[in-house]
Amino acid sequence: MPSVDLDQPWDLGGGTTGPSGPQGVEVRCEGVVHLYRTFAGHDVVALRGIDLTIGAGERVAFLGPSGCGKSTLLTLLGGIQRPSAGRIFLGDEEISRLGERRLARVRARLVSTMLQGATRNLLPYATARQNIGFARLGGGGGDRDDLPRPTELLEIVGLADQRDQAVSTMSGGQRQRLALACAVATGPRLLLADEPTSALGHADREAVVALLHRIGTDFGTTVVVVTHQAEVAATFSRTITMKGGRIGAEGRSGSEYAVVGEEGLLHLPTQLVELWPAGTLVRIEQTDDERLTISREQSATTPEQP
Ligand code: ADP
Ligand code: MG
Repeated sequence: MPSVDLDQPWDLGGGTTGPSGPQGVEVRCEGVVHLYRTFAGHDVVALRGIDLTIGAGERVAFLGPSGCGKSTLLTLLGGIQRPSAGRIFLGDEEISRLGERRLARVRARLVSTMLQGATRNLLPYATARQNIGFARLGGGGGDRDDLPRPTELLEIVGLADQRDQAVSTMSGGQRQRLALACAVATGPRLLLADEPTSALGHADREAVVALLHRIGTDFGTTVVVVTHQAEVAATFSRTITMKGGRIGAEGRSGSEYAVVGEEGLLHLPTQLVELWPAGTLVRIEQTDDERLTISREQSATTPEQP
């Protein structure tokens, strides 16, 4: 595997780096709800009220069990779907209100989404260089001279030697790095990546994670990654854990916090869920301004059969 050179200064020329480069955009969600209509006729509520702010240039990892709504949230932030209710802002732009044409422009200029599975983001029979050219064309970058050249991008992700190779002949790690190069080819201010390392071996995973952070440090891009891999999440100073379509917990610089949701809803830490099952009656007492005590009602625990 050609190595990704992380020590090389990431100078893309054309004023794309430094303070004049594409700075990150703030992401804000207010009461975001999303439901899917199914053919069977019943709705699936994928998101049940997400309130969230991600600062401009911040890097965040989303965690949580399968089906908790991570991918759905990412597609909403990326302007691929519109939420059923609630508001989503990328900077000053309320993308949850935009019509399809304006939304296409947001996807072209503001945000790039790497869908789960590298190949879904790539044209399999085209070469690496053609893929970047195509991504840029779709991203309205054909007439922009402020963007890095495809060959430079390929060098950055360690694919200089594969530039004329077809995607279909590339390894999983190479594909994922190419998908990343395509995603940043339009100079996005927000980069979204859904499980970008889940199908990769150790070395490829490290390379992709390093590249994601590199995009944040060098371009100031806001980076949001969905992952179920603890070692990937551990590289992010902020983690957000989703549960059942809600935000359950946040990690900040290694400390874990539960997040108070709408109407005072609070998730128990995962390790307590089995010990304190749904329906357990608890007493919540305020000890002082900063402390609550939660105790189980002794008589109300699951009765022991004599
Ligand atoms: P995650 O990425 O955390 O695994 P998803 O956002 O993919 O979660 O899914 C959240 C919920 O929405 C799940 O119950 C899933 O079955 C449902 N869902 C996702 N996509 C669709 C869809 N296109 N149609 C119907 N239900 C969907
Ligand atoms: Mg998913």
